[in-house]
Amino acid sequence: MTTYFNYPSVQLQSELASIAQRIVAPGKGILAADESVSTMGKRLVDIGVENSEENRRKYRELLFTTDPTIGEYISGVILFHETLYQKTSDGVPFTKLLKDRNILIGIKVDKGTVPLFCSENEVTTQGLDDLDQRCTEYKKEGCDFAKWRCVLKIGKNTPSYQAILENANVLARYASICQAHGIVPIVEPEVIPDGDHDIERAQKVTEAVVAATYKALHDHHVFLEGTLLKPNMVTPGMQCKKRATPLEIATATILAFTRTVPPAVAGITFLSGGQSEEEASINLDAINKSKGRKPWPMTFSYGRALQASVLRAWAGKPENVGSAQEELLKRAKANSQAALGTYQAGSIKGQAGDQNLFVKNHVY
Ligand code: 13P
Repeated sequence: MTTYFNYPSVQLQSELASIAQRIVAPGKGILAADESVSTMGKRLVDIGVENSEENRRKYRELLFTTDPTIGEYISGVILFHETLYQKTSDGVPFTKLLKDRNILIGIKVDKGTVPLFCSENEVTTQGLDDLDQRCTEYKKEGCDFAKWRCVLKIGKNTPSYQAILENANVLARYASICQAHGIVPIVEPEVIPDGDHDIERAQKVTEAVVAATYKALHDHHVFLEGTLLKPNMVTPGMQCKKRATPLEIATATILAFTRTVPPAVAGITFLSGGQSEEEASINLDAINKSKGRKPWPMTFSYGRALQASVLRAWAGKPENVGSAQEELLKRAKANSQAALGTYQAGSIKGQAGDQNLFVKNHVY
């Protein structure tokens, strides 16, 4: 147990805390647009568009040239490395578009998952080796926050002690490297929804994983006020016959996190994890409507649940850009209301509203 260590300088603490607080300002959340080349490719192929660098650029241009009112709902966008350096067709850097909309720039810094030897199909996440240099570069390019996703799987014997401990430690190491560079780490230990387990099992696993994560963050002297947690909501497994109501999901989710997340953490920004757009809004709204004890802001950091309707409306056609942007604004507004607990179910309809967005063994 280490008791001799330093806190970050007062200046660094205040920089990190103010970035984190801006991200979770009331009614605001994150657009996760950091799909890797292959994941973006799958989304494009689904709408009949070839996975080329130019098509990925065109799609992200569509997202980031949405009307500036988007900045009322979206406080941060997470980018993939390639996107950070891209520009509009008339030469405006994407980073400028985002800053002009008062949106903070985030960057995915993990390099994906790799198997844990001799485990039951479990994984850890790689990317620590050159993270220090990459953070120097990313901060220079205007990034103020980062994301690192770990994946934990619920099975008969999983997650194992090995997977829980390893993923907690790698998240803590990542978080401390980011903070040393003035970058707010989003800590994402995702318990994926694959399986037929019930909501109670999901809650227990989430509690065990998140508790281990904060033990590791503490051991690595991570400054919690300058971090955000990006967890799964607590839901039954996708193949579980017994579905849960939004109220049951909200209750289990809040209980799991009040038991394990220190109040010093700046905020919780949920992933959508395969929920439909409408479900993701309704469940976030139920969490925020709940009267339970909630020491942190709870908002969204959605990928699929903010982009499914946009992709469908766009279909790769230039004449559809305007209507696709409308879809993004609609979903951003719905989730902004959900972050405040004021969303009316069904009041904002998207083209892919109820479409199931679950992807088996999802990689990002
Ligand atoms: P989904 O909202 O599509 O689950 O993705 C969010 C994310 O960034 C996962 O790392």
